[in-house]
Amino acid sequence: MLKTIIKRDGRTAEFHPQKIADAVEKSFQACAAMQDRATAEQIAATVVEKLESGAIEGTPTVEGVQDLVEETLIESGFVQTAKAYILYRAERSRVRDVNSRLIQTLKDITFSKAADSDMKRENANIDADTAMGTMLKYGSESAKQFYEMCVIDPRYAKAHREGDIHIHDMDFYTLTTTCCQIELRKLFKGGFSTGHGVLREPNDISSYAALACIAIQSNQNDQHGGQSVCDFDYGLAVGVRKTYRRLFKKHIAEGIDLLTDIADDRDFAEKTLARIEEETGTIASLEMDADFRAAVVAALVEAGADEATADRIVAYAEKNASRDTDRQTFQAMEALVHNLNTMHSRAGAQTPFSSVNYGMDTSPEGRMVIKNMLLATEEGLGSGETPIFPVQIFRVKEGVNYNPEDPNYDLFKLAMHCSAKRLFPNFSFLDAPFNAQYYKGTPETEIAYMGCRTRVMGNVYDPDREVTPGRGNLSFTSINLPRLAIRAKGDIDLFFDLLDSKLQLVTGQLDERFEIQARKHVYNAPFLMGQGVWIDSEKLSPTDVQRDVLKHGTLTTGFIGLAECLVALTGQHHGQSPEAQRLGLEIVGHMRSYCDRVSQERGMNYSLIATPAEGLSGRFVRIDRERYGVIPGVTDRDYYTNGFHVPVYYDISAYDKIALEAPYHALTNGGHISYIELDGDPSDNLEAFESVIRYMKDCGMGYGSVNHPVDRDPVCGYNGIIEDVCPKCGRSEDAHNQPFERIRRITGYLVGTLDRFNDAKRAEESQRVKHAVPMPESAE
Ligand SMILES: [Zn+2]
Repeated sequence: MLKTIIKRDGRTAEFHPQKIADAVEKSFQACAAMQDRATAEQIAATVVEKLESGAIEGTPTVEGVQDLVEETLIESGFVQTAKAYILYRAERSRVRDVNSRLIQTLKDITFSKAADSDMKRENANIDADTAMGTMLKYGSESAKQFYEMCVIDPRYAKAHREGDIHIHDMDFYTLTTTCCQIELRKLFKGGFSTGHGVLREPNDISSYAALACIAIQSNQNDQHGGQSVCDFDYGLAVGVRKTYRRLFKKHIAEGIDLLTDIADDRDFAEKTLARIEEETGTIASLEMDADFRAAVVAALVEAGADEATADRIVAYAEKNASRDTDRQTFQAMEALVHNLNTMHSRAGAQTPFSSVNYGMDTSPEGRMVIKNMLLATEEGLGSGETPIFPVQIFRVKEGVNYNPEDPNYDLFKLAMHCSAKRLFPNFSFLDAPFNAQYYKGTPETEIAYMGCRTRVMGNVYDPDREVTPGRGNLSFTSINLPRLAIRAKGDIDLFFDLLDSKLQLVTGQLDERFEIQARKHVYNAPFLMGQGVWIDSEKLSPTDVQRDVLKHGTLTTGFIGLAECLVALTGQHHGQSPEAQRLGLEIVGHMRSYCDRVSQERGMNYSLIATPAEGLSGRFVRIDRERYGVIPGVTDRDYYTNGFHVPVYYDISAYDKIALEAPYHALTNGGHISYIELDGDPSDNLEAFESVIRYMKDCGMGYGSVNHPVDRDPVCGYNGIIEDVCPKCGRSEDAHNQPFERIRRITGYLVGTLDRFNDAKRAEESQRVKHAVPMPESAE
């Protein structure tokens, strides 16, 4: 009589024939075979007979027994049931595979160094060698595998696993939405709560700046993607105004004390200014109201000062209040940049993905914010390091800052000066037709970009609310374009058929994820929703679901590798041939029309993004190379080209690259960016830098930036380009055993060290060619 059996892990266990009967019974049920328990037990008994008559030599294994069960079912005429039984086994072993894969992943996280593991370097802004970074990785990897196995529809999970599509930020599948455009003015009005007490409406620029950081940090805990302030200049200008008012009062009191016999200077200044504010309905400000000023002079004369002295006191207060406000604004911006590069979020493992948009506020206070933000950025962090955060976006617009006669022209020039040294700000273009169409002269209709390139503006759900504040992307999923082209083998019609089926698949998956997000309650996102950061969330109570307000957000389809896709279809990419460019525009245009059509049908915002390929550029190509081999120009590198970009390794002038990529900006309403790589230090050639930015605008781009090397020697503090030897102190990298810092931009974010890049991104970075900027004769 058979007593034991060998399990998969090699251990011996008791043999129970009823377990065979259980499995067979389940298989009967699965294929709706009208058989009862008795039949199942009969099958099990036959299997036991076979075992006892020596069908398997020695102690049987689980697999061996299962083979016998299958055989017996087929012999007994239960062919369908045998099939169901095979499926049941396959399913069980898949679950076992996932379990062992999870264990293997957890081992990797625990025992391998980030330097040796691509998985640990997936996000370059997380140090996966730290305790909190590791803890985050445990959670993230376990969550991904759990969702893949138990939550996501198997069709989508399979497409993701096999590299047809990529579901971004899958570890947050059931938890959060991606990103949000935060409006500071709304947030500051009346103060807000971070969960540990209410913060009152702030009273000067330093508290405004500090609270802006706290808002970004708090919101980051409720979302997995970027936090973008959409009204940075307008929002902080309020703080500058309050600061000036306070300082003016202080300096008036000083003047009274020094130059008059008026007793109790502070009390006098306090009461007098309060009265005049009440009477004139205005306050002391950088742009001083003439009546206000006259009233202050008159009050001083009335209190006994002579006319000349009274005027002198006011002039003294104006001059000093203005100077001190400027200095305090600079310090506030310096502190803000410092905070955003050091404060942590997400279980303490990384700084928030912060972005700030500015450039359009022409008030003296807004201008002071912009100017000092740029100066603080250009100065760098404590030891002159280049700030990684926030991603800064300077809005360019004719009539505001683009031409010499424009009020903020000086700030546009300063922005380019800063960017030529520090890589930020990037530049967004409000005159591009697809951005201009929404602009109605108000801050909330100015386009905003998320650092990584996300853009949320049009609103099919509520066409009256085509505004930036409080909206963001809900989730996005990318299509592997090169694979579709490889499969189509040059057949363009087939390619478009395959593309359509993937577009439908992605929409279905985005809908599935939206259903999960929509059922979350306000209390699940205590800051984003609880504090009214997200549009209309202030109208909800904590136990309401998020569904309706989330519909202001976007469900976004992304794509990667247009260049390799075109090579696979036509033999050339869009940098090489006009035909390829035409086809490229047709492909991206096709995807966009699909998204527009679905938006109209469902009354929700489906948009198209040129995917920021963090973590993805290498994954698709690795899977495709395994499957289809090395195809020249397609799978022969370690990465697929970002979105619609002309390949980084392709030699092309800056102007040609801009002209080729610009039309894709108009098609990708969910986000886009173009980069130009400049050689050398553009600070020494600002003309070239400026001509690139201006050409981007002329060609109708929405968002662009210039990459150039920014190195720093932490030993002597030199900032600039360092080849092998530091030009300032002459040391090489080996001396002092301290590497040079090399700031590079990877999919939109600056990264301070190449160590944390994954292999694909390192390969991409090393193959970038510089784009020549031919200058006209007159500019020489
Ligand atoms: Zn040095």
